[in-house]
Amino acid sequence: MKNILGSISTMRNFMGNAGRNTCNEYLYEALTDAVESMEQHNPQKPIFKHGESVTAIDYADGRGEMKKDKWAEWVCPNCGWFVGQQYIPRKHNQQKCNFCSRCGQAIDWSES
Ligand SMILES: [Zn+2]
Repeated sequence: MKNILGSISTMRNFMGNAGRNTCNEYLYEALTDAVESMEQHNPQKPIFKHGESVTAIDYADGRGEMKKDKWAEWVCPNCGWFVGQQYIPRKHNQQKCNFCSRCGQAIDWSES
């Protein structure tokens, strides 16, 4: 694999130096597009979130119960959009998206 992260930082450094030079306006815009595109195609690990939610259940005989549900989900590291979900306690992973449906960020699901 090519050194995408190295290329991104090289381009970012160049843009930082050349940014105020209006002669490079079109090049600067092209580089902005290129960097954003490269970042989106370079998979990022999703952010894991988990917690508990409480649901009130009303029975027909008038009794009630509070039911606790644990939840866990993954969100896009770029924009925070939902990219995956895990049900507890079954540990059944589902709805893992390879790309964020909002911003197009590639998601890295490897366990390493
Ligand atoms: Zn996103």
